[in-house]
Parts: sequence; structure tokens; C-alpha cells
Amino acid sequence: MAKVKGELYCSFCGRTSREASSLIEGPNQVFICNHCVDSANEIIKSNLSHQESMNFDKKSSLPTPSQMKKQLDDYVIGQDYAKKILSVAVYNHYKRINTHDVTGDLKDVELEKSNILLLGPTGTGKTLLARTLARILNVPFAIADATTITESGYVGDDVESVLLNLVQNADYNEKLAEKGIVYIDEIDKISRKSESTSITRDVSGEGVQQALLKMLEGTRVGIPPKGGRKHPEQSLLYVDTANILFICGGAFVGLEKIIAQRMKSTTIGFSSSLTEELEVNTELLKNVEPDDLNKFGFIPELVGRLPVLTYLDELSDEAMLSILTEPKNALVKQYQKLFMMDKVELEFEEDALLAIVAKAKERKTGARGLRSITEDIMNEIMYDIPDKKNISKCIITKEAVTEKQAPKFEYKTEKIEKPLKNQA
Ligand code: ADP
Repeated sequence: MAKVKGELYCSFCGRTSREASSLIEGPNQVFICNHCVDSANEIIKSNLSHQESMNFDKKSSLPTPSQMKKQLDDYVIGQDYAKKILSVAVYNHYKRINTHDVTGDLKDVELEKSNILLLGPTGTGKTLLARTLARILNVPFAIADATTITESGYVGDDVESVLLNLVQNADYNEKLAEKGIVYIDEIDKISRKSESTSITRDVSGEGVQQALLKMLEGTRVGIPPKGGRKHPEQSLLYVDTANILFICGGAFVGLEKIIAQRMKSTTIGFSSSLTEELEVNTELLKNVEPDDLNKFGFIPELVGRLPVLTYLDELSDEAMLSILTEPKNALVKQYQKLFMMDKVELEFEEDALLAIVAKAKERKTGARGLRSITEDIMNEIMYDIPDKKNISKCIITKEAVTEKQAPKFEYKTEKIEKPLKNQA
């Protein structure tokens, strides 16, 4: 009975109606107070979180490397070599953290974590690959910029904010976050010699590398959960980074010279006339070896913690063209969908697409320029189209790209292209 001397009380914790701000009545004079409702909520939430992370443990949900590559193909054009290396590394990583049933002689063999280093020019799909992998595997994902990590790193705010981001993307489920993927961009900018062309060693990057190393190796970081949801029971969230997969990426400008130097000395010895013939370009990144990274200004310990090295190709015109039209969420498809919502068919002439690619190439930012160039062209058109109810088709011409001319239109009733109308 939840009533003593006429006073109601909570059947779970015993708080009286004066001690609790509300008492909810169930059948047979059972009551529950607001405090117990809150606690019950927390318990249910944590049970659910546990179940979710257990769901991911089921090996059946882990795609094989070839399945992963196939799914990557839907979103990322080209970069086949990097896709294969990544798929295998990611498969091994999740197999390692999800499987505990190896017996026999190999039982005690310790599998090391295979963090990944992606080398390649800017805008070639490094971030996109990491993000797409996380999406395929349905694991939390966060992006960090290496240049924002300072020497105080692993005890300071910076590493914490990277992990907070991950935890937030895991909906505050630490267990899920601990199986997430973190992409660290611009890793090349924290090399000891970064931005320094003189031989004088700039050691400022070393402390940052140490901070990063700590995170890559595995450390328990206490994170104050800022904003959003309240955690009355705990003031800090603890995240262990041991099983988080770190994918680092950078353009590594200048590394090709170091690789060329090594290749010259190992293949041609002292012959300096032949050394001139080795073309120094980003293609050489394919031949990268850990020692080259040490020479580039990375501490050997950090290089050792990034055992999977792979490179991304410079994007050819053809690849850029495909990026505009082929991936599941290709820019052209996105605009076509937006236009379709206004009942207007949208077409890009082949020459127009080639002109967009040519403009993007001038910017030297890989495929990154494609969006802003296209946006620039489409904005004016998208401003007008919703008001022009009689338009059935909009055709983007080369001149619309190169000279900002108006596109061609077809009309619902007349079905005549504008230029033809002028001639008539
Ligand atoms: P980075 O190599 O500098 O990390 P990103 O992955 O951020 O480059 O690429 C920038 C944008 O360019 C992506 O969001 C995507 O739209 C496009 N992009 C770049 N490379 C590719 C690619 N190989 N396939 C499809 N889209 C790409």
C-alpha cells in the first residue's frame, strides 16, 4: 500500500508526495515519483545503448572487403587502389575488435590496430572515402583537423573536442563511439619541417605528433559532455581510443622530392645525369615508404602507428566528369531532383560539363571546386525558375558556364527553344 497515515508515497523509493514534485498512480494504489521515472529512463537508455553496440558485434553485419569496395564505388569515383587497401584494413580492424574466439597456437598472437594514412592531392576523395566507410559500416564518424591539435593535446581541450564530436555523433553512446572512425585531415601540416624550406629544424610539430600518437595508441580520455543532454550521474564521459580507427590524410606536398631522392640513390647510385630523368610529380607518392615519412618530418613512433599507407590519384578530366554525373548523390543528379520538384526537366550538355571540369582544374582544388562552380551557375537560374510556371525543360549550355549566358528553355505549351523563338 502506498499510503501511510493518509499520505501518499512512491512505491519504488519511498519519497512522500511532499518530497517528490509529482506522483503518478498505477493500478492497486501503486505510485511512482518523478525521480524514479527519471532513473528508469536512464536505465532503459543504457540498456538500449548496450544492445545497439552488441548488434554491431554480430559478425554477419560486417561486409567483406569486396562488398565494402562495391559500396564505395557507389559514392567515390576511381581511386581503386586506395579503396582496396582501405576495405581490407577496415575489414581487419572490425574483425579484430569483434572476434574473440580464436583458439590454438594463434590464440596469443596480438593483432595490432591498422590505422591508415592516405596520401594524395587535395580534393581527390580522402575525406569522402573515410566518411563513406563509416556510413557503410554504420559506425560513428568525426573529422578533425590536425592543425588544431596542440601539444597539450591529450590532456588539453583539443583531443577531447575531437572525441566529443565522435561521442555526439554516436548520440552520447560511449561504447559505440569507441568503435567509430575518426578522420584526421591535414596531417602533413604537423610535420617537423612543415612550411619550412630551410634546413633548420622546426621542432614545433613534434609535441603535436606526440599528442596524436597517444590518441592513436589508445588512451582513456574524460570528456565533459557540453550542452545538449544532461548526465546527472556523471560529470565526465570516458572514451577509450584503443579501438577507434584513425584514418589520417594529407597532400604531403614535397614528399615526392624525398621519394625521388631515395629512388635515385637506390637505383642509380651516384650517376647524377640520370637522376634528372626521374620526373618529380605526385605519381611518385605511390612509392612511399615509412622512411620517407620520417624524412618528411614525422617521428618514427607515429609512422609506426600508421601501418597502412595508401595514395589517391590526381583526378583526370574523365574522373571529374564522372564525379559530376555518376555517384549516387552526384551534383547533376541533385540539381535534377531539385528541378523535378518544380516540374522542370534539367539537362547539362556534354560541353557544359566539360567546361565546368576545365574551370575546376584551373582552381587546382581537385573535385572540391566542382560544387562551387556549379552552384554559381545554377543559383541565378534557380532564383527565376519557380516563378516561370510554363517552363518544362532547362538546358545548361557551354556558354551558360563560360560566359554566364542564360540557359536554353523548353516551354510546356509551345515546346520551342528560346534561340529558335528569336529567329522566328
Ligand atoms: P580531400 O581529398 O581533400 O579530403 P574530399 O574527399 O573532401 O577531398 O573531396 C571534396 C569533395 O569533392 C567531396 O565532397 C566530393 O564531392 C568530391 N570528390 C572528391 N573526390 C571524389 C571522388 N573520387 N569521387 C567522387 N567525389 C569526389
